[in-house]
Amino acid sequence: MRLARIASPDGVAFVSITDGENGPVAAEIAEHPFGTPTFTGRSWPLADVRLLAPILASKVICIGKNYAAHAAEMGGEAPADPVIFIKPNTSIVGPEVPIVRPPSSERVDFEGELAIVIGRPCKDVKAAQANDVILGFTVANDVTARDQQAIDGQWTRAKGYDTFCPLGPWIETDFDPADVELRTELDGEVRQRSRTSLMLHDIGKIVEWISGVMTLLPGDVILTGTPEGIGPMIAGQRVSVTVEGLGTLSNPVVDKP
Ligand code: MG
Repeated sequence: MRLARIASPDGVAFVSITDGENGPVAAEIAEHPFGTPTFTGRSWPLADVRLLAPILASKVICIGKNYAAHAAEMGGEAPADPVIFIKPNTSIVGPEVPIVRPPSSERVDFEGELAIVIGRPCKDVKAAQANDVILGFTVANDVTARDQQAIDGQWTRAKGYDTFCPLGPWIETDFDPADVELRTELDGEVRQRSRTSLMLHDIGKIVEWISGVMTLLPGDVILTGTPEGIGPMIAGQRVSVTVEGLGTLSNPVVDKP
């Protein structure tokens, strides 16, 4: 099932996107998309609604250096165990919402990533049981003020600005993340192209590691790391992250006025 959140003429709603006779249709879900959703019976042509970030997370947990080639371009080797950090949930925005570059940073980078969306409260999940707690997968951009990441020595400011966590366009619940292409384009030019099979820690290991530290709640989002090819964005550009078989997340870039 393809789950999304939309702004409809009547407000905000969770929907399931399906193919209709005249193109994709957004069918309204009653309440929330966890468990087995029920439907209100209302629907809209997808073209008539605006997609929002597909989920409201209590937290966004990220894996650093989960692709060896990215660790190398950052000037080191990937650590043996996953390195995790948190982006505040206020950094989340949806498709087409501008990424706002703060005036305090000289270099704001894209990091295209596959994201896990958690489906139920959980703690101490074994890797083999990870699928039981995952609602689905979406596309993310782990936007980073690269200069501030180096200056601060820890990453809260560099990773935490409002708009620094675009998510979307939807959550795919029936999706095999083991070996799909991940691609980031800047103004249509391919800048990152890799495969999820090159992750150093796979989805099961990531869920086990993080849930061994903290309780995960429905809607929590885990960014699984970026491959090589990261680079800066400037105002007026457009960044698009595509995960094969899942979708494309596209956002324009602006400077904070
Ligand atoms: Mg990242």
